[in-house]
Amino acid sequence: MTTHAFPKGTILGYPRIGRRRELKRAVEAFWAGSIDAAELEARAAELRAATRERLAELGLERTGSAIPESFSYYDQVLDTAVAVGAVPPRFTRFLAADGEVDLAAYFTIARGVGDDAPLEMTKWFDSNYHYLVPEIGPDTVFELHPERILSEFAEAKAQGFLTRPVIVGPVTFLLLAKAAEGAPAGFRPLDRIADLVPVYARLLDRLAAAGAEWAQLDEPALVSESFDESRDRVLEAAAVAYDALGASDARPSIFVAAPYGSLDGALPVLAATPVEAIGLDLVRGTFPAHLDPATEESLAAKTLVAGVVDGHNIWRGDLGAAFARAEAVQHLSNAVAVSTSTSLLHVPHDVADEAALEPRLVSWLAFADQKVAQVATLARGLIDGREAIETDLAGASAALADRAGAAGVRVPAVRQRLAALAAGDFTRASYDDRVAAQASLDLPELPTTTIGSFPQTGDIRRARARLVKGELDEGGYRQLMRDEIERVVRLQEELGLDVLVHGEPERNDMVQYFAELLDGFAVTQHGWVQSYGSRCTRPSILWGDVSRAAPMTVEWSTYAQSLTEKPVKGMLTGPVTILAWSFVRDDQPLGDTARQVALALRDEIGDLEHAGIRVIQVDEPALRELLPLKRADQPAYLDWSVGSFRLATGGAAPATQVHTHLCYSEFGVVIDAIKNLDADVTSIEAARSRMEVVDDLGASGFDHGIGPGVYDIHSPRVPSAVEVQALLERAVAEIPASRLWVNPDCGLKTRGYDETVASLEHIIQATRAVRAEL
Ligand code: GLN
Ligand code: ZN
Repeated sequence: MTTHAFPKGTILGYPRIGRRRELKRAVEAFWAGSIDAAELEARAAELRAATRERLAELGLERTGSAIPESFSYYDQVLDTAVAVGAVPPRFTRFLAADGEVDLAAYFTIARGVGDDAPLEMTKWFDSNYHYLVPEIGPDTVFELHPERILSEFAEAKAQGFLTRPVIVGPVTFLLLAKAAEGAPAGFRPLDRIADLVPVYARLLDRLAAAGAEWAQLDEPALVSESFDESRDRVLEAAAVAYDALGASDARPSIFVAAPYGSLDGALPVLAATPVEAIGLDLVRGTFPAHLDPATEESLAAKTLVAGVVDGHNIWRGDLGAAFARAEAVQHLSNAVAVSTSTSLLHVPHDVADEAALEPRLVSWLAFADQKVAQVATLARGLIDGREAIETDLAGASAALADRAGAAGVRVPAVRQRLAALAAGDFTRASYDDRVAAQASLDLPELPTTTIGSFPQTGDIRRARARLVKGELDEGGYRQLMRDEIERVVRLQEELGLDVLVHGEPERNDMVQYFAELLDGFAVTQHGWVQSYGSRCTRPSILWGDVSRAAPMTVEWSTYAQSLTEKPVKGMLTGPVTILAWSFVRDDQPLGDTARQVALALRDEIGDLEHAGIRVIQVDEPALRELLPLKRADQPAYLDWSVGSFRLATGGAAPATQVHTHLCYSEFGVVIDAIKNLDADVTSIEAARSRMEVVDDLGASGFDHGIGPGVYDIHSPRVPSAVEVQALLERAVAEIPASRLWVNPDCGLKTRGYDETVASLEHIIQATRAVRAEL
């Protein structure tokens, strides 16, 4: 095979949801039946074409394999599962006779149907993106279905582009997978690497035949130490896979990208394989200080793709330092290219769309398009020398200096309060004393509650849109929200729930709502980022010192409480989640920023208590999400993250029942951290993984209140009362009923009312049945 030159500048991937969320609209219209598959395909093709044109306009080569084909209708891991034929048997009946997965079947696997649960969903490395978890068993038949990958490449070609197909690499694919149901104990998906690799090899051959010069295989799992698999086995699998893939002589050149951290020991392993290019994350990760001579020699013959432009945040950053980092790699190889450190999937499209942001703040920022331009600049620097890009580097440095000195970035009063904190500020009364003080809540066994939000109806969203447009005044808007709260409270009373919520109608988003009210934040208009499938979030920008100007939630919670005798849970978003789902300043330790946010929340909790709210939930669904991928970095992270939660809740009286909510159930290393949060009640996801978590919980020594979810709210499916009862019985068998709560997996905001009411009715019915058995 001929080795092709790698482009000097590239990106690992680009947002696929569209500048105005065109893909979300199209996909949801298809789900709703208002457009057909052909129309969805046409709109997606249009979006892909516009993306390629835009990337070329921003400076990536049209025909040099610089532009990645990183589109997905829903998720790149699902795409990979489909491409290698790894579709769980429960979905086989939706496939064509030849195993082909059409769009309808594809979305069925993603979203489930009837009693067939979708693939489980979980966080993608240390980001807020969620992927679908492949299910691999000893009998999973791998079979190549390259149609979509080939057709997107051909589509680009017809448009005049030579692009670079991107697929999740085989090692990462198997590490992200879970063992299929019925797999024998001890089976690991990675056991199947030798069976999977030939399918990848055939895919590469097909791509070469179609004219692809380079293919990108994403192997972020090689930087992570968070898998339940020994590092040696992972490295061995990487060696086996890439030796085998490299052996073909009818393949494109292979670019293995390793975003999200240092490759460490995986670098010599990849270096020893025939792959032609290796992508290094030089933002989160570093280059190893010492390499053995054999590795140095092999790397010298490869392209090193220096990921020096941060794909994971929105700061314009220090471009000069980025360039220096790329230049430093040049002593290892003559072929150095620059790229983003990760896919740009994690950032919004374009700061130029943010007309309402302060121009000064805008000058400190870079979204996806600006990052692509930065890559193009740095690539020019590699070719023509630093002088050629000196003006761009100086511009970035000037913006950085301006930011450091701007008002609001450092606020003395906030800093003094932080400096005065003492150990006692992080600790509540003992759990036993709190349990005694909270008996006055007078709750039944297996108390039922929800996670906070009720469906965000079209009416609610329209009211907010009208408020934003000025068609509805503040008073009119507040009245509509109060009406909604009243409806939600009445509904919960009718259903017979024990601890009520106000339903969060006033929250556009659980983080943005607070960001809009706190000092130190800015919010964007179009800064949407894909969270999973068609779901997007609009992270706020935390740019300065954080403080609370006035109470943020008290009015809504007290109004809800005024309507009922039952306790209403106050609802706050925790400091770690506020950080995780915002774009956070990078000029001070995250722990300092988290404690600033915590103090603002602490004041809010005090105000809620004074106003008569007796149960307060502080959501921390992102606690695990920010967990560093490298073990050595985890203790320090857990220390500041848990500490900030404790600081936020540490002022609550013993009689105030503090709840927290986490959106996942794989505790592993974080179980001790969850215990250390010291919340009175913790609700977690469990339905989607069919209550598997209660075994771990039982064994973990966790001894506070716990609510493992019994309703998977990620899918429109309504669980039957019988099914919920079975889940609860499983939970009661492991966890004392006195500590067990009954709740859905997560908030209900994305669900419709019909399915919500039916599901909650079933939950109440099942709870009553199980209570009767106690
Ligand atoms: N209270 C939030 C809600 O119900 C929690 C959401 C979350 O954890 N993601 O919507
Ligand atoms: Zn949740």
